[in-house]
Amino acid sequence: MELPFAESYRIKMVEPLRRSHRSEREQWIKEARYNLFNLRSEQVFVDLLTDSGTGAMSDRQWSEMMLGDESYAGSSSYYKLKETIRELTGFEFFLPTHQGRAAENVLFSTMVKSDDIVPGNSHFDTTKGHIEFRKATAVDCTINEAFDTTLDHPFKGNIDLEKLEKVFKSYPATQIPMVIITITCNTSGGQPVSMDNIRQVSAMAKRYGVKVVFDSARFAENAYYIKKREKGYADKSIREIVREMFSYGDAMTMSSKKDAIVNMGGFIGFRDEDLFREASTYNIMFEGFVTYGGMSGRDMNALAQGLLEGTEFDYLETRINQVAYLGGLLRNAGIPVQYPFGGHAIFVDAKRFLPAVPKEQFVAQTLAVEIYLEGGVRGVEIGAILADRDPMTRENRYPELEMVRLAIPRRTYTNNHMEYVAASIINVWERRHEIKTGYQIVREAPILRHFTVELDRA
Ligand SMILES: *Cc1c(COP(=O)(O)O)cnc(C)c1O
Repeated sequence: MELPFAESYRIKMVEPLRRSHRSEREQWIKEARYNLFNLRSEQVFVDLLTDSGTGAMSDRQWSEMMLGDESYAGSSSYYKLKETIRELTGFEFFLPTHQGRAAENVLFSTMVKSDDIVPGNSHFDTTKGHIEFRKATAVDCTINEAFDTTLDHPFKGNIDLEKLEKVFKSYPATQIPMVIITITCNTSGGQPVSMDNIRQVSAMAKRYGVKVVFDSARFAENAYYIKKREKGYADKSIREIVREMFSYGDAMTMSSKKDAIVNMGGFIGFRDEDLFREASTYNIMFEGFVTYGGMSGRDMNALAQGLLEGTEFDYLETRINQVAYLGGLLRNAGIPVQYPFGGHAIFVDAKRFLPAVPKEQFVAQTLAVEIYLEGGVRGVEIGAILADRDPMTRENRYPELEMVRLAIPRRTYTNNHMEYVAASIINVWERRHEIKTGYQIVREAPILRHFTVELDRA
């Protein structure tokens, strides 16, 4: 018999979970104004809100915490992290930040000014927020295939070179501070970008005199897909692939809460010393001195170790297989999920799940609430609420895709949890025809409204 797949780790410490009743959940979600971000974690049984900062650290990472050096300047933890980043990514210069959006804030303070144009593959919400906050414009150049959730394409995160070139031709290079390649592309469903696409985008950007910045939260998962799916990479190690990917960029921003398997942290990597120096001033203002930037020494140690573990093939295979396991359970039940499955999450196509709910009543949010009510499973809306209003017209933006994202924390849940999640969603699927109305907004913030929005039944 062929030996089955099994996790590449065992469990040393556990955290109890409590199941709740539907009547309790009805009360809690009402009190939370139908915003899943407002729930208390103990009101959730399986929490798939995000894979950000929710992973389980290893015994080695916890050991590294004890070795943290808390010196204000020049700590050994800083140098350990710097060396690890240099070896993995090839970026000589780096700045620690407290998380990914802080890295964006610091880097964009240096590079992005008002009226700038920032092309890329579906920018992440905080990335877009930091661009628009500076009165610049993010232009989505993702390939059209990404918007068809059923089309089988190995690299749906790819940038459309024609769309990109059109941007390069329409604006002077002085108005395009960078092209952002998000690996994997979170907003289009955790979809990877091929090495070939990275190479071509980088070459085109160079021709037009534009810098390439990687938004790298899930760079290791991207490398895994390149190894699995792209010709010529099957025999390369994850770390060789990572090195090659980053060799095509000028800088990177990182949310360490994702592929680096820590609960908090981020950084910026730079090739150019001048850019690094310029950004250092903003880092000191916003984050902290250049050798800690919002992180404690122990956290930098755990991050350095997490970067090494996060780029191990066996770990990545365990991780991505678990996500695909959940995806397979849903797909086999006939539920419309994005395919191929993304690296960190399964995306349920809410428009096809709940066709009777009008888009003005927030289809994906409606589905996310139903899934919570059914089983205490918390996913998140990736749809019209997240898409926010147009910064100029202030009209609601209705994106092509309305999804519920089920993000799987790293090394946290078992496949039994995945079966529980699938059963909860299948139950909603079976009564989908009864769900015809959604929600209306009662209160919202002017930017990044999804975190705090308050809703009521429409
Ligand atoms: C999470 C994420 C960010 C922002 O990072 P935070 O650590 O949450 O601030 C930026 N880009 C991408 C692609 C992300 O997934």
